[in-house]
Amino acid sequence: MSRETATDDATDPTSLALDAPAPQTPDDAEDGVWLGCIDCGETYSPFESVRYTCDCGGLLEVRYGEPSGFADFGPEGHSAATERGVWRYAAALPFDEGVSLPEGDTPLHRVPRLEDEVGVASLRIKHEGMNPTGSFKDRGMTVGVRAARELGVGRLACASTGNTSAALAAYGGRADMETLVLLPAGKVAAGKVAQAALHGARILEVDGNFDACLDIVQELAGRGEAYLLNSLNPFRLEGQKTIGFEILEAHLADYGTFPDRIVLPVGNAGNTAALYKAFRELVQADALEPEEVPALTGVQAADAAPMVEAIEDGADEIRRWEEVETIATAIRIGNPVNAPKALPGIRNTGGTAVAVADEEITAAQRDLAGEGVGVEPASAASVAGLRKLRDRGVVDDDERVVCLTTGHLLKDPDAAYEAGNDPEPVPNDADAVLEHLRE
Ligand SMILES: *Cc1c(COP(=O)(O)O)cnc(C)c1O
Ligand SMILES: [Zn+2]
Repeated sequence: MSRETATDDATDPTSLALDAPAPQTPDDAEDGVWLGCIDCGETYSPFESVRYTCDCGGLLEVRYGEPSGFADFGPEGHSAATERGVWRYAAALPFDEGVSLPEGDTPLHRVPRLEDEVGVASLRIKHEGMNPTGSFKDRGMTVGVRAARELGVGRLACASTGNTSAALAAYGGRADMETLVLLPAGKVAAGKVAQAALHGARILEVDGNFDACLDIVQELAGRGEAYLLNSLNPFRLEGQKTIGFEILEAHLADYGTFPDRIVLPVGNAGNTAALYKAFRELVQADALEPEEVPALTGVQAADAAPMVEAIEDGADEIRRWEEVETIATAIRIGNPVNAPKALPGIRNTGGTAVAVADEEITAAQRDLAGEGVGVEPASAASVAGLRKLRDRGVVDDDERVVCLTTGHLLKDPDAAYEAGNDPEPVPNDADAVLEHLRE
Protein backbone atom coordinates (compact mmCIF):
# COMPACT_ATOMS: atom_id res chain seq x y z
CA MET A 1 0.00 0.00 0.00
CA SER A 2 1.44 3.33 -1.00
CA ARG A 3 0.47 6.72 0.33
CA GLU A 4 1.21 10.37 -0.16
CA THR A 5 1.32 12.94 2.58
CA ALA A 6 0.81 16.56 1.62
CA THR A 7 4.38 17.59 2.38
CA ASP A 8 4.08 20.63 0.13
CA ASP A 9 2.22 22.61 2.77
CA ALA A 10 3.59 20.86 5.83
CA THR A 11 5.03 24.07 7.28
CA ASP A 12 1.63 25.75 7.27
CA PRO A 13 -0.06 25.40 10.67
CA THR A 14 -3.56 25.59 9.11
CA SER A 15 -2.68 22.66 6.89
CA LEU A 16 -4.50 19.36 7.28
CA ALA A 17 -1.37 17.48 6.17
CA LEU A 18 -0.51 14.46 8.30
CA ASP A 19 2.92 15.88 9.04
CA ALA A 20 1.86 19.50 9.68
CA PRO A 21 3.46 21.02 12.78
CA ALA A 22 1.42 21.64 15.93
CA PRO A 23 -0.16 25.11 15.79
CA GLN A 24 1.00 27.99 18.01
CA THR A 25 -1.31 28.75 20.94
CA PRO A 26 -3.08 32.09 20.23
CA ASP A 27 -3.91 34.75 22.83
CA ASP A 28 -7.63 33.94 22.72
CA ALA A 29 -7.09 30.33 23.82
CA GLU A 30 -8.77 29.23 27.06
CA ASP A 31 -6.77 26.67 29.08
CA GLY A 32 -4.82 25.90 25.91
CA VAL A 33 -7.99 25.26 23.85
CA TRP A 34 -9.27 27.36 20.92
CA LEU A 35 -11.17 27.14 17.66
CA GLY A 36 -9.15 27.41 14.47
CA CYS A 37 -10.30 27.81 10.87
CA ILE A 38 -9.07 25.09 8.51
CA ASP A 39 -9.13 27.54 5.59
CA CYS A 40 -7.60 30.83 6.74
CA GLY A 41 -6.12 29.92 10.14
CA GLU A 42 -8.16 32.54 12.04
CA THR A 43 -8.53 31.66 15.73
CA TYR A 44 -11.44 32.19 18.11
CA SER A 45 -11.95 31.88 21.83
CA PRO A 46 -13.88 28.61 22.36
CA PHE A 47 -16.49 29.63 24.94
CA GLU A 48 -16.80 33.40 24.74
CA SER A 49 -19.52 33.23 22.09
CA VAL A 50 -21.31 30.62 20.01
CA ARG A 51 -19.72 30.02 16.64
CA TYR A 52 -19.79 27.11 14.18
CA THR A 53 -17.86 28.45 11.19
CA CYS A 54 -15.20 31.08 10.53
CA ASP A 55 -16.03 34.58 9.28
CA CYS A 56 -14.45 33.44 5.99
CA GLY A 57 -16.99 30.60 5.80
CA GLY A 58 -14.39 27.91 6.55
CA LEU A 59 -14.97 25.01 8.95
CA LEU A 60 -13.63 25.31 12.48
CA GLU A 61 -11.86 22.70 14.53
CA VAL A 62 -10.96 22.52 18.19
CA ARG A 63 -7.21 22.98 18.64
CA TYR A 64 -4.92 22.38 21.58
CA GLY A 65 -1.63 23.84 22.77
CA GLU A 66 -0.58 20.33 23.75
CA PRO A 67 -1.23 18.13 20.71
CA SER A 68 -3.09 15.06 21.80
CA GLY A 69 -2.94 14.71 25.54
CA PHE A 70 -3.61 11.10 24.67
CA ALA A 71 -0.37 9.83 23.28
CA ASP A 72 0.56 6.79 25.29
CA PHE A 73 -0.66 3.37 24.21
CA GLY A 74 1.38 1.29 26.63
CA PRO A 75 0.28 -0.39 29.86
CA GLU A 76 2.07 2.35 31.80
CA GLY A 77 0.32 5.04 29.83
CA HIS A 78 -3.20 5.83 29.01
CA SER A 79 -4.43 2.26 29.06
CA ALA A 80 -3.91 2.38 32.81
CA ALA A 81 -6.55 5.10 33.20
CA THR A 82 -9.50 4.08 35.35
CA GLU A 83 -12.15 5.97 33.39
CA ARG A 84 -13.83 3.94 30.66
CA GLY A 85 -15.18 4.96 27.28
CA VAL A 86 -14.96 8.44 25.80
CA TRP A 87 -13.81 10.20 28.98
CA ARG A 88 -10.89 7.85 29.38
CA TYR A 89 -9.37 10.07 26.69
CA ALA A 90 -10.19 13.35 28.47
CA ALA A 91 -6.59 14.48 27.96
CA ALA A 92 -7.36 14.73 24.23
CA LEU A 93 -10.71 16.49 24.76
CA PRO A 94 -11.65 20.09 25.58
CA PHE A 95 -13.20 19.15 28.98
CA ASP A 96 -12.31 16.84 31.86
CA GLU A 97 -15.79 15.39 31.95
CA GLY A 98 -19.06 15.60 30.05
CA VAL A 99 -22.77 14.95 30.13
CA SER A 100 -22.29 11.20 30.11
CA LEU A 101 -24.52 8.10 29.97
CA PRO A 102 -21.67 6.74 29.61
CA GLU A 103 -20.61 6.12 26.01
CA GLY A 104 -17.80 4.50 24.04
CA ASP A 105 -15.82 1.39 24.98
CA THR A 106 -17.55 -0.54 22.18
CA PRO A 107 -16.50 -4.04 21.08
CA LEU A 108 -14.06 -4.85 18.27
CA HIS A 109 -15.75 -8.05 17.09
CA ARG A 110 -14.04 -10.92 15.32
CA VAL A 111 -15.96 -12.24 12.31
CA PRO A 112 -13.95 -15.28 11.15
CA ARG A 113 -16.34 -16.36 8.38
CA LEU A 114 -16.48 -12.89 6.80
CA GLU A 115 -12.73 -12.48 7.25
CA ASP A 116 -12.21 -15.73 5.40
CA GLU A 117 -14.67 -14.96 2.65
CA VAL A 118 -13.42 -11.39 2.03
CA GLY A 119 -9.84 -12.69 2.17
CA VAL A 120 -7.80 -10.28 4.24
CA ALA A 121 -5.12 -10.88 6.90
CA SER A 122 -7.61 -9.86 9.55
CA LEU A 123 -11.03 -8.27 9.70
CA ARG A 124 -12.51 -6.74 12.83
CA ILE A 125 -15.82 -4.95 13.31
CA LYS A 126 -15.87 -1.90 15.56
CA HIS A 127 -19.52 -1.96 16.57
CA GLU A 128 -20.64 1.54 17.45
CA GLY A 129 -24.22 0.29 17.66
CA MET A 130 -23.30 -0.72 21.22
CA ASN A 131 -23.36 2.88 22.47
CA PRO A 132 -26.13 3.99 24.90
CA THR A 133 -28.60 5.12 22.21
CA GLY A 134 -27.28 2.64 19.66
CA SER A 135 -25.00 4.75 17.47
CA PHE A 136 -21.63 6.53 17.54
CA LYS A 137 -23.47 9.87 17.73
CA ASP A 138 -23.42 9.47 21.54
CA ARG A 139 -19.64 10.02 21.56
CA GLY A 140 -20.14 13.38 19.93
CA MET A 141 -23.07 14.42 22.09
CA THR A 142 -21.34 13.79 25.42
CA VAL A 143 -18.83 16.50 24.43
CA GLY A 144 -21.21 18.68 22.39
CA VAL A 145 -23.89 18.97 25.08
CA ARG A 146 -21.17 19.70 27.62
CA ALA A 147 -20.03 22.55 25.35
CA ALA A 148 -23.64 23.80 25.21
CA ARG A 149 -23.63 24.01 29.01
CA GLU A 150 -20.30 25.83 29.00
CA LEU A 151 -21.72 28.35 26.53
CA GLY A 152 -24.90 28.79 28.58
CA VAL A 153 -27.25 28.26 25.61
CA GLY A 154 -30.97 27.69 26.17
CA ARG A 155 -32.10 25.33 23.44
CA LEU A 156 -30.46 22.46 21.58
CA ALA A 157 -31.27 21.52 17.99
CA CYS A 158 -30.20 19.26 15.18
CA ALA A 159 -31.26 18.11 11.76
CA SER A 160 -31.08 14.36 11.52
CA THR A 161 -31.50 11.27 9.41
CA GLY A 162 -32.41 9.71 12.78
CA ASN A 163 -29.49 8.79 14.98
CA THR A 164 -28.35 12.31 15.75
CA SER A 165 -31.88 13.10 16.94
CA ALA A 166 -32.00 9.99 19.16
CA ALA A 167 -28.64 10.87 20.71
CA LEU A 168 -29.39 14.57 21.14
CA ALA A 169 -32.79 13.80 22.70
CA ALA A 170 -31.14 11.50 25.25
CA TYR A 171 -28.24 13.80 26.12
CA GLY A 172 -30.48 16.89 26.09
CA GLY A 173 -32.79 15.07 28.49
CA ARG A 174 -29.86 14.10 30.68
CA ALA A 175 -28.72 17.75 30.76
CA ASP A 176 -32.31 18.95 31.37
CA MET A 177 -32.27 21.19 28.29
CA GLU A 178 -34.95 21.92 25.71
CA THR A 179 -34.30 19.90 22.55
CA LEU A 180 -35.60 20.30 18.99
CA VAL A 181 -34.97 17.79 16.23
CA LEU A 182 -35.78 18.37 12.56
CA LEU A 183 -36.41 15.22 10.56
CA PRO A 184 -37.18 14.61 6.88
CA ALA A 185 -40.83 13.48 6.99
CA GLY A 186 -41.27 9.78 6.27
CA LYS A 187 -37.56 9.13 5.76
CA VAL A 188 -36.41 8.21 9.25
CA ALA A 189 -36.20 4.64 10.54
CA ALA A 190 -38.85 3.78 13.13
CA GLY A 191 -36.51 2.96 16.02
CA LYS A 192 -34.81 6.34 15.81
CA VAL A 193 -38.01 8.42 15.84
CA ALA A 194 -39.26 6.35 18.77
CA GLN A 195 -36.10 7.15 20.72
CA ALA A 196 -36.21 10.88 20.00
CA ALA A 197 -39.87 11.00 21.01
CA LEU A 198 -39.52 9.09 24.27
CA HIS A 199 -36.36 10.89 25.37
CA GLY A 200 -38.42 14.05 25.19
CA ALA A 201 -37.33 16.03 22.14
CA ARG A 202 -39.82 18.07 20.14
CA ILE A 203 -39.87 16.42 16.73
CA LEU A 204 -40.37 18.76 13.77
CA GLU A 205 -41.05 16.83 10.57
CA VAL A 206 -39.94 18.75 7.51
CA ASP A 207 -41.38 18.23 4.06
CA GLY A 208 -37.93 17.91 2.49
CA ASN A 209 -34.76 15.81 2.66
CA PHE A 210 -32.02 15.83 5.32
CA ASP A 211 -30.04 18.56 3.59
CA ALA A 212 -33.12 20.82 3.67
CA CYS A 213 -33.52 20.13 7.43
CA LEU A 214 -29.90 21.08 7.98
CA ASP A 215 -30.35 24.33 6.04
CA ILE A 216 -33.23 25.26 8.38
CA VAL A 217 -31.39 24.34 11.57
CA GLN A 218 -28.35 26.35 10.45
CA GLU A 219 -30.66 29.29 9.86
CA LEU A 220 -32.18 28.96 13.36
CA ALA A 221 -28.71 28.63 14.88
CA GLY A 222 -27.45 31.62 12.91
CA ARG A 223 -30.29 33.71 14.35
CA GLY A 224 -29.32 32.61 17.87
CA GLU A 225 -32.54 30.59 18.34
CA ALA A 226 -30.86 27.26 19.05
CA TYR A 227 -27.47 25.65 19.62
CA LEU A 228 -26.64 23.44 16.66
CA LEU A 229 -25.43 19.92 17.40
CA ASN A 230 -24.92 18.55 13.94
CA SER A 231 -21.42 17.44 13.03
CA LEU A 232 -20.70 20.97 11.80
CA ASN A 233 -20.30 21.61 15.53
CA PRO A 234 -16.56 21.18 16.13
CA PHE A 235 -17.02 19.91 19.71
CA ARG A 236 -18.99 16.90 18.54
CA LEU A 237 -16.13 15.69 16.39
CA GLU A 238 -13.80 15.79 19.40
CA GLY A 239 -15.84 13.06 21.09
CA GLN A 240 -15.91 11.01 17.92
CA LYS A 241 -12.09 11.04 17.77
CA THR A 242 -12.18 8.45 20.55
CA ILE A 243 -13.38 5.81 18.06
CA GLY A 244 -9.93 6.11 16.51
CA PHE A 245 -8.13 5.89 19.84
CA GLU A 246 -10.09 2.80 20.87
CA ILE A 247 -9.46 1.06 17.55
CA LEU A 248 -5.71 1.71 17.66
CA GLU A 249 -5.39 0.58 21.28
CA ALA A 250 -7.44 -2.59 20.90
CA HIS A 251 -5.82 -3.55 17.60
CA LEU A 252 -2.34 -3.04 19.02
CA ALA A 253 -3.21 -5.19 22.01
CA ASP A 254 -4.52 -8.03 19.83
CA TYR A 255 -2.09 -8.02 16.89
CA GLY A 256 0.90 -5.95 18.01
CA THR A 257 0.26 -3.55 15.10
CA PHE A 258 -2.16 -0.83 14.08
CA PRO A 259 -4.71 -1.65 11.36
CA ASP A 260 -3.70 -0.92 7.76
CA ARG A 261 -7.15 0.32 6.87
CA ILE A 262 -10.35 1.57 8.47
CA VAL A 263 -13.49 1.33 6.33
CA LEU A 264 -16.49 3.42 7.33
CA PRO A 265 -19.84 4.60 5.99
CA VAL A 266 -19.91 8.27 5.01
CA GLY A 267 -22.88 10.60 5.37
CA ASN A 268 -21.90 14.11 6.45
CA ALA A 269 -18.31 12.82 6.72
CA GLY A 270 -18.02 13.89 10.36
CA ASN A 271 -16.65 10.56 11.46
CA THR A 272 -14.12 10.49 8.65
CA ALA A 273 -12.99 13.97 9.71
CA ALA A 274 -12.90 12.98 13.40
CA LEU A 275 -10.81 9.85 12.83
CA TYR A 276 -8.37 11.80 10.70
CA LYS A 277 -8.07 14.46 13.39
CA ALA A 278 -7.37 11.82 16.02
CA PHE A 279 -4.55 10.44 13.87
CA ARG A 280 -3.12 13.87 13.03
CA GLU A 281 -2.95 14.76 16.71
CA LEU A 282 -1.23 11.48 17.52
CA VAL A 283 1.30 12.13 14.75
CA GLN A 284 1.88 15.65 16.09
CA ALA A 285 2.47 14.15 19.53
CA ASP A 286 4.98 11.65 18.08
CA ALA A 287 2.81 8.76 19.24
CA LEU A 288 2.22 7.54 15.69
CA GLU A 289 4.32 7.65 12.51
CA PRO A 290 2.57 9.08 9.43
CA GLU A 291 3.16 5.68 7.72
CA GLU A 292 1.31 3.93 10.55
CA VAL A 293 -1.91 5.89 10.09
CA PRO A 294 -4.64 3.57 8.76
CA ALA A 295 -5.91 4.29 5.24
CA LEU A 296 -9.30 5.94 5.73
CA THR A 297 -11.72 4.36 3.30
CA GLY A 298 -15.18 5.85 2.90
CA VAL A 299 -18.26 4.04 1.63
CA GLN A 300 -21.44 5.64 0.29
CA ALA A 301 -24.63 4.32 -1.25
CA ALA A 302 -24.59 4.47 -5.05
CA ASP A 303 -27.42 7.00 -5.25
CA ALA A 304 -26.02 9.23 -2.50
CA ALA A 305 -22.32 9.38 -3.31
CA PRO A 306 -21.00 12.96 -3.64
CA MET A 307 -17.84 12.12 -1.68
CA VAL A 308 -17.04 9.16 -3.91
CA GLU A 309 -17.54 11.42 -6.91
CA ALA A 310 -15.12 14.02 -5.50
CA ILE A 311 -12.46 11.38 -4.70
CA GLU A 312 -12.78 9.79 -8.14
CA ASP A 313 -12.62 13.19 -9.87
CA GLY A 314 -9.73 14.42 -7.72
CA ALA A 315 -11.92 17.43 -6.84
CA ASP A 316 -11.22 19.70 -3.86
CA GLU A 317 -14.90 20.37 -3.31
CA ILE A 318 -17.96 18.19 -3.48
CA ARG A 319 -20.89 18.82 -5.76
CA ARG A 320 -24.19 18.85 -3.82
CA TRP A 321 -26.53 16.08 -5.01
CA GLU A 322 -30.12 17.35 -4.85
CA GLU A 323 -31.74 13.93 -5.22
CA VAL A 324 -30.45 11.10 -3.05
CA GLU A 325 -31.93 7.67 -2.35
CA THR A 326 -30.90 4.52 -0.47
CA ILE A 327 -32.25 2.06 2.08
CA ALA A 328 -29.32 3.16 4.23
CA THR A 329 -31.24 6.21 5.48
CA ALA A 330 -28.46 7.26 7.86
CA ILE A 331 -26.24 8.08 4.89
CA ARG A 332 -28.95 9.43 2.62
CA ILE A 333 -27.11 12.76 2.34
CA GLY A 334 -26.29 14.79 -0.74
CA ASN A 335 -24.25 17.61 0.74
CA PRO A 336 -21.68 16.29 3.25
CA VAL A 337 -20.82 19.36 5.32
CA ASN A 338 -17.52 17.99 6.61
CA ALA A 339 -16.12 17.22 3.17
CA PRO A 340 -13.36 19.90 3.46
CA LYS A 341 -12.02 18.05 6.53
CA ALA A 342 -12.70 14.54 5.29
CA LEU A 343 -11.34 14.70 1.72
CA PRO A 344 -7.78 15.45 2.94
CA GLY A 345 -8.24 12.67 5.50
CA ILE A 346 -8.98 10.12 2.82
CA ARG A 347 -6.26 11.38 0.46
CA ASN A 348 -3.45 11.96 2.97
CA THR A 349 -3.83 8.51 4.52
CA GLY A 350 -3.70 6.70 1.19
CA GLY A 351 -7.37 5.77 1.47
CA THR A 352 -10.14 5.84 -1.08
CA ALA A 353 -13.92 5.98 -1.40
CA VAL A 354 -16.33 3.56 -3.01
CA ALA A 355 -20.05 3.39 -3.74
CA VAL A 356 -22.19 0.29 -3.15
CA ALA A 357 -25.66 -0.73 -4.28
CA ASP A 358 -28.51 -1.21 -1.81
CA GLU A 359 -28.55 -4.97 -2.54
CA GLU A 360 -24.85 -5.17 -1.61
CA ILE A 361 -25.60 -3.33 1.63
CA THR A 362 -28.41 -5.73 2.50
CA ALA A 363 -26.23 -8.75 1.73
CA ALA A 364 -23.51 -7.44 4.04
CA GLN A 365 -26.08 -6.68 6.75
CA ARG A 366 -27.29 -10.29 6.55
CA ASP A 367 -23.73 -11.67 6.67
CA LEU A 368 -22.81 -9.59 9.71
CA ALA A 369 -26.03 -10.61 11.44
CA GLY A 370 -25.25 -14.24 10.61
CA GLU A 371 -22.13 -13.93 12.74
CA GLY A 372 -24.08 -12.33 15.55
CA VAL A 373 -23.33 -8.68 14.79
CA GLY A 374 -26.62 -6.82 14.34
CA VAL A 375 -26.26 -3.54 12.47
CA GLU A 376 -28.50 -1.12 10.58
CA PRO A 377 -28.14 -0.81 6.79
CA ALA A 378 -25.82 2.24 6.71
CA SER A 379 -23.39 0.38 8.97
CA ALA A 380 -23.28 -2.64 6.68
CA ALA A 381 -22.16 -0.36 3.85
CA SER A 382 -18.65 -0.54 5.34
CA VAL A 383 -18.44 -4.31 4.83
CA ALA A 384 -20.11 -4.07 1.41
CA GLY A 385 -17.51 -1.48 0.41
CA LEU A 386 -14.61 -3.59 1.66
CA ARG A 387 -15.91 -6.55 -0.32
CA LYS A 388 -16.09 -4.44 -3.48
CA LEU A 389 -12.58 -3.06 -3.00
CA ARG A 390 -11.20 -6.59 -2.49
CA ASP A 391 -12.94 -7.71 -5.69
CA ARG A 392 -11.37 -4.79 -7.53
CA GLY A 393 -7.93 -5.57 -6.08
CA VAL A 394 -7.74 -2.17 -4.37
CA VAL A 395 -7.49 -3.82 -0.94
CA ASP A 396 -4.70 -6.42 -0.68
CA ASP A 397 -5.09 -9.85 0.90
CA ASP A 398 -2.34 -9.09 3.42
CA GLU A 399 -4.13 -6.09 4.91
CA ARG A 400 -5.44 -5.84 8.44
CA VAL A 401 -8.80 -4.12 8.18
CA VAL A 402 -11.28 -2.67 10.65
CA CYS A 403 -14.82 -1.96 9.45
CA LEU A 404 -16.84 0.54 11.44
CA THR A 405 -20.49 -0.34 11.99
CA THR A 406 -22.16 2.84 13.08
CA GLY A 407 -25.61 1.88 14.35
CA HIS A 408 -27.57 -1.02 15.88
CA LEU A 409 -29.86 -3.42 14.00
CA LEU A 410 -32.90 -2.38 16.08
CA LYS A 411 -32.65 1.18 14.80
CA ASP A 412 -34.34 0.12 11.59
CA PRO A 413 -36.63 -2.83 12.34
CA ASP A 414 -38.36 -2.55 8.95
CA ALA A 415 -35.08 -3.01 7.06
CA ALA A 416 -34.16 -5.95 9.31
CA TYR A 417 -37.54 -7.56 8.72
CA GLU A 418 -37.14 -7.12 4.96
CA ALA A 419 -33.62 -8.55 4.89
CA GLY A 420 -34.22 -11.46 7.26
CA ASN A 421 -35.98 -14.81 7.15
CA ASP A 422 -39.74 -14.79 6.76
CA PRO A 423 -41.74 -16.12 9.73
CA GLU A 424 -43.30 -19.52 8.99
CA PRO A 425 -46.83 -20.09 10.30
CA VAL A 426 -47.22 -23.53 11.92
CA PRO A 427 -50.12 -25.31 13.63
CA ASN A 428 -50.36 -25.32 17.43
CA ASP A 429 -49.13 -28.92 17.70
CA ALA A 430 -45.65 -30.47 18.15
CA ASP A 431 -46.14 -33.29 15.59
CA ALA A 432 -47.35 -30.78 13.01
CA VAL A 433 -44.34 -28.56 13.75
CA LEU A 434 -41.96 -31.51 13.17
CA GLU A 435 -43.85 -32.37 10.03
CA HIS A 436 -43.38 -28.77 8.84
CA LEU A 437 -39.64 -28.92 9.59
CA ARG A 438 -39.25 -32.08 7.48
CA GLU A 439 -40.94 -30.49 4.45
C1 LIG B 1 -24.60 9.49 11.28
C2 LIG B 1 -24.44 8.13 10.74
C3 LIG B 1 -23.57 7.86 9.67
C4 LIG B 1 -22.84 8.93 8.93
O1 LIG B 1 -21.79 9.46 9.67
P1 LIG B 1 -21.08 10.83 9.20
O2 LIG B 1 -20.20 11.17 10.31
O3 LIG B 1 -22.19 11.82 9.01
O4 LIG B 1 -20.39 10.53 7.92
C5 LIG B 1 -23.42 6.56 9.26
N1 LIG B 1 -24.11 5.55 9.85
C6 LIG B 1 -24.96 5.78 10.87
C7 LIG B 1 -25.71 4.63 11.45
C8 LIG B 1 -25.16 7.07 11.35
O5 LIG B 1 -26.02 7.27 12.34
ZN1 LIG C 1 -11.41 31.28 8.03
